[in-house]
Amino acid sequence: MDPTSYDCAIIGGGLSGLCLSIQLAEAGFSVVVFEKNRYPFHKVCGEYISMESWNFLNQLGLPLGDMDLPVIDQLGISSQRGFMLNHTLKMGGFGISRFTLDHQLSSIAVSKGVIIKENCRVTGVRKADKQVSEIDSSCGTYHAKIVCGSYGKYTPSFLQSAELGKGSDGMNYIGVKYHVRTDLPTNRIELHNFENGYCGISKVDNDWQCLCYLTTANNLNKNSKDIGLMERNVLFKNPFLKKYFTESEFLTQQPLVISNVSFKKKSTDNQGIFLLGDSAGSITPLCGNGMSMGMRASKLLAAELIAYLNNKQTKEQTLVNYKRSWDKNFGNRIKVGYYLQYLFGKNATTDLALRVLSQLPPVTSKLVSLTHGERF
Ligand SMILES: Cc1cc2nc3c(=O)[nH]c(=O)nc-3n(C[C@H](O)[C@H](O)[C@H](O)COP(=O)(O)OP(=O)(O)OC[C@H]3O[C@@H](n4cnc5c(N)ncnc54)[C@H](O)[C@@H]3O)c2cc1C
Repeated sequence: MDPTSYDCAIIGGGLSGLCLSIQLAEAGFSVVVFEKNRYPFHKVCGEYISMESWNFLNQLGLPLGDMDLPVIDQLGISSQRGFMLNHTLKMGGFGISRFTLDHQLSSIAVSKGVIIKENCRVTGVRKADKQVSEIDSSCGTYHAKIVCGSYGKYTPSFLQSAELGKGSDGMNYIGVKYHVRTDLPTNRIELHNFENGYCGISKVDNDWQCLCYLTTANNLNKNSKDIGLMERNVLFKNPFLKKYFTESEFLTQQPLVISNVSFKKKSTDNQGIFLLGDSAGSITPLCGNGMSMGMRASKLLAAELIAYLNNKQTKEQTLVNYKRSWDKNFGNRIKVGYYLQYLFGKNATTDLALRVLSQLPPVTSKLVSLTHGERF
């Protein structure tokens, strides 16, 4: 076999790209994944996965039941003023660090025959002829019948011109993450609001807790671009956060930080490249389930690509079918995410909303269920 020619090339080896690669390899197709980092590595992410993905990950070969992972079924949401809404999660989720998850998925992919090019950044894609695309990367030029983009939040420059470019709220966010050890029940996830942001905390593997927040870039700018100063001036106004930040053991002194995060409307393809995960559209982390959406999208796309590669449908039909099933599965969920994002992070409305919801558990259950999908 020509080591530069594949049925499918995948740009980005995060969880959506890796899940897609495993399914295509299992169906007998040759797959190459390009990942600009080297596994294992950390990522800014709250690391809570809704239970909807449990069976899917097991089917891909990840033995979640043997990994002693925290199962989470209790939710606490606090307002900056110190009110805490407590709620039992019907579906719930589990905690696993991206360090472990992405690394394990990459090992499964390799065991199924996927070629993973680590430390390799894709810099361009163009049509070589009617059937085949040419992929330029920092580790050489490759050819594939199908190219998929699972490059995450940041669209590579060679694809930016064709993006929709419409912001959900025109805001620019930053994400900050630490691993800590602290006093929090294993089965509990908490979401703490502060001015223009919110911070999640829940347990993952390795006896770590993931402490991760999203806030506006403006919040950081107002605090001289100093993360520590912003935490002390803004996050500490929420008494729960002040406690976690001052009484936890921080496993790394420096947080992992990402900037220029937006929740722009995107699309399921760009210049003939099939998109999945955050590349196709990201949900606000408040709804907590971007990872499950990425994994579910990989299942929808794998079904369509397998039909195409088996000559059961044309590429045009494949693009249309995938867009249709993506919209059906995620359209409403993304809308709910935008509304919830709007509601939280504003002191007065958040406090009032939490107090009202605490009196109406069925309404809270309904809201939470809108952010979780069915098992797949
Ligand atoms: C603050 C915050 C908290 C969150 N918390 C949660 C949570 O608790 N639960 C949840 O389900 N979701 C959460 N999310 C969302 C979740 O992190 C994403 O939805 C998920 O990571 C998307 O996976 P992905 O595979 O699409 O992209 P990613 O996991 O981002 O993977 C993309 C990969 O592509 C690689 N790459 C990019 N460009 C190139 C290139 N040109 N060449 C080669 N490789 C490239 C990157 O290195 C990366 O590894 C959170 C997001 C944020 C910002």
